[in-house]
Amino acid sequence: MSPTHDTHDTHDTHDTHDTHDTTVTPDATDRSHGDDLLTFVTASPSPYHVVASAAQRLEKAGFEELRATDDWTNGAGGGRYVVRGGALIAWYVPEGAPPRTPFRIIGAHTDSPNLRVKPAPDTSSAGWRQVAVEIYGGVPLNTWLDRDLGISGRLTLRDGSTRLVRVDKPLLRVPQLAIHLDRTANEGLALDRQRHMAPLWGLGGTEPGALLRRIAEEADADFAEILGWDLMLHDIQPPGYLGADEEFIVSPRLDNQISVHAGVTALVAAATARPPAHIPVLAAFDHEEVGSGSESGAQGPLLERVLGRGVAARGGSAEDFNRALAGAFCVSADMSHAVHPNYAERHDPDHHPLPNAGPVIKVNVNQRYATDGTGVAAFAAACERADVPWQPFVSHNAMPCGTSIGPITAARLGVATVDVGVPGLSMHSARELCGARDPGLLARALTHFVTSG
Ligand code: ZN
Repeated sequence: MSPTHDTHDTHDTHDTHDTHDTTVTPDATDRSHGDDLLTFVTASPSPYHVVASAAQRLEKAGFEELRATDDWTNGAGGGRYVVRGGALIAWYVPEGAPPRTPFRIIGAHTDSPNLRVKPAPDTSSAGWRQVAVEIYGGVPLNTWLDRDLGISGRLTLRDGSTRLVRVDKPLLRVPQLAIHLDRTANEGLALDRQRHMAPLWGLGGTEPGALLRRIAEEADADFAEILGWDLMLHDIQPPGYLGADEEFIVSPRLDNQISVHAGVTALVAAATARPPAHIPVLAAFDHEEVGSGSESGAQGPLLERVLGRGVAARGGSAEDFNRALAGAFCVSADMSHAVHPNYAERHDPDHHPLPNAGPVIKVNVNQRYATDGTGVAAFAAACERADVPWQPFVSHNAMPCGTSIGPITAARLGVATVDVGVPGLSMHSARELCGARDPGLLARALTHFVTSG
């Protein structure tokens, strides 16, 4: 019996599950995919680094970058990708595929909730030198306390060029107030987003320019040339494995680098090992954690424009593009909730996803997720072909439900969409947890989703 069988009565009727691996201990294949994910996450402390990590892997597999400002005529065959800030769209056109060939889209996001540096960051209080930060997305603020923090992101120079930067040293820390000075801390920690989250990084008064000067030094950049920046903090503790049999991964930014990494893996596999029947696409958007409304977010025109231009560059008409979209399917891959052992009552009693039992298919009839029955069937069929178990997910009716880029992409492009993801604990924490088997299982399912069916 698979773990899925053990925990989901509703799934016993799926005879396909009888064939699945019954162990929850990661094997060598799972472990090697997990190790590769940890390498990817470590290399990617900011959305800009996620894009660079993905691009590097795509280049290695023969994909070539297309610039949005270039003429794409006769240049959109084979493996290609486009970068826009913290977003990346990549696709593979099999030889001889007509312009109307439907897309199979993997959607994911590159951003994670974190602390971001304010425009005039140098501040101080009571003799401590501090950095002013904004809160990006739904951050459980307590998880950022008492961690050794580095800094990363993008510098924009006077000539308009950008440069990635990262400092992986323990540079900053948001210190928690000692319990002696806050006797009620364990009854619910109250953290003021403005007053209590500023990290310290030295002693002394406010010295305008000090932080950026230090960043410039670390990045080997000329301080005088830096006119703009997008900088954020990250926990420098490396990701790793945890548990009696190392059956869990603990890492920052699993939401949603698990899905970006799995998407890149699937796209490369589709382009190299298995000639796809569709045009596989990876759409890795920025700004999902803050609603997706940006030039590089899912609400923007990026994906539609890139796909449309790709069809036109291959000689297709507007009708060809509409046909390719009408036949398209999108799988929106984003981290999901495993049942929490200490708060099981907050989950629907008949939907208790566990780690290492395969990806979940997320349903919410109020369209917080885009999945309908056809989406469930499409992804479940891909899982069957991949010999990957899957689990159903729906929220407890009295609990708020998360969302993803799935409903946005479905509404924006009019494309059939299914929401899926790896179930984990501590979502949005500075350090999250998932099953060590699950990243590899998701990648296998996605590979089959984009290559066949
Ligand atoms: Zn997410």
